[in-house]
Amino acid sequence: MPHFGDTSGLRRPADSYDTIIVGAGIIGLAVAREVLARRPGSRVLVVEREDAAARHQSSHNSGVIHAGVYYAPGSLKARLCVDGAARLYGFCERRAVAVKRVGKLIIARDEHELPALEEIGRRANANGVAGMRRLDAGGLREIEPHAIGVAALHSPNTAIVDFADVCARLADDLGAAGGDLRFGWEVARVAAGARSIRLRSAAGDEAEGARAVFCAGLWSDRLAVLAGADPDPRIVPFRGGYLRLAPRRRALVRGLIYPVPDPRLPFLGVHLTPRVDGDVLLGPSALLVGARDAYALSTLRAADVRDTLAWPGTWRMMARWWRTGIGELRLAASREAFAAQASRYVPALRGEDLLPGFGGVRAQAVARDGRLVDDFLLCATPRAIHVRNAPSPAATSSLALAARIADAADAI
Ligand SMILES: Cc1cc2nc3c(=O)[nH]c(=O)nc-3n(C[C@H](O)[C@H](O)[C@H](O)COP(=O)(O)OP(=O)(O)OC[C@H]3O[C@@H](n4cnc5c(N)ncnc54)[C@H](O)[C@@H]3O)c2cc1C
Repeated sequence: MPHFGDTSGLRRPADSYDTIIVGAGIIGLAVAREVLARRPGSRVLVVEREDAAARHQSSHNSGVIHAGVYYAPGSLKARLCVDGAARLYGFCERRAVAVKRVGKLIIARDEHELPALEEIGRRANANGVAGMRRLDAGGLREIEPHAIGVAALHSPNTAIVDFADVCARLADDLGAAGGDLRFGWEVARVAAGARSIRLRSAAGDEAEGARAVFCAGLWSDRLAVLAGADPDPRIVPFRGGYLRLAPRRRALVRGLIYPVPDPRLPFLGVHLTPRVDGDVLLGPSALLVGARDAYALSTLRAADVRDTLAWPGTWRMMARWWRTGIGELRLAASREAFAAQASRYVPALRGEDLLPGFGGVRAQAVARDGRLVDDFLLCATPRAIHVRNAPSPAATSSLALAARIADAADAI
């Protein structure tokens, strides 16, 4: 680890910027936009290790603009999701990004789930989510004729979008506002001095900024530690696997159909999700995997496995959630298990209606004590801000979260 103030180990003269942002996912790009809006004409550089923007979480997700229904009142997730969704609708309208307000049903299958459904309704009201309605079994069938349950909450303002399209427009804005975006630039070393911070890429290129903002998603803990931060929490990769509904069966689903989630977990459960391109997804599962880029289930990386297994929080988490983990393994192994899960809500759905889909990997922070960090989390190191936990609904919240991150960066 470099000593702060010691930038002597870095070679080649560095390009100099006011703000350097690491990571061209939706959060990094939204931060760049916010910084340039606050300080027009300032020198902003975004560095990204891949050869294009939005190669990881920001393009491998459910594509849902959440309304802010679930989150603990007062949490960053609750506030920034409601604010972020409003900002995102405005952005998409101005930039002609397709959005469909298909609405969402959260369905209670039996009486046991009613208290949890009531609690979600209370949270939605406390969070200021507009238009929420409670429906009985008949009311929910008027909205989703093929779905069943004893009661539901309907959120008419939940929508779908392709977040990769949002990222493409944000990258356009960055260029139009005079910012630089460099691909194939993997930050490998960080050295902060009294007035500036220097980054060095794996290829040996350098850039110097008055401040840096790290929005590195699945690798955010490693970069934070490289910059001198506490290793707690660590990113533990949870793969979300999706299947697709065969086109001939798409009429089974009109909008978003969700289960009542386990309130102790930050995952929302397997849901049915129409896409803006007309596809209907089933998923995601939530399986602990052996690589931070495990888009294929079989991908294993020794360093990632080591990091996950060496973290005491992983073992504490597994001791608590092993039963849930076995259920997720079953989903990963069997299309029939996936179909059985979804057919609890849409009984006409069968295994033969499902086609292969894709996988996304969540950057979920796990604390040393085994807690899955629920809220968005930032931390600071000399001349830098780090996004340490930005799982769902961070894509929805991105424009509001970016304002929050820019506030923290302005205090440097
Ligand atoms: C399965 C799944 C479903 C989801 N569904 C939803 C949803 O429906 N709605 C919603 O709001 N949210 C959803 N999310 C969450 C949302 O996708 C993420 O919160 C959001 O995309 C996070 O954006 P990000 O910019 O932080 O991360 P990313 O998009 O992962 O971007 C991080 C970037 O940092 C780059 N990087 C990493 N290390 C370095 C380095 N050393 N040097 C340079 N660059 C580096 C990476 O290459 C990457 O491009 C979902 C996530 C998943 C995985």
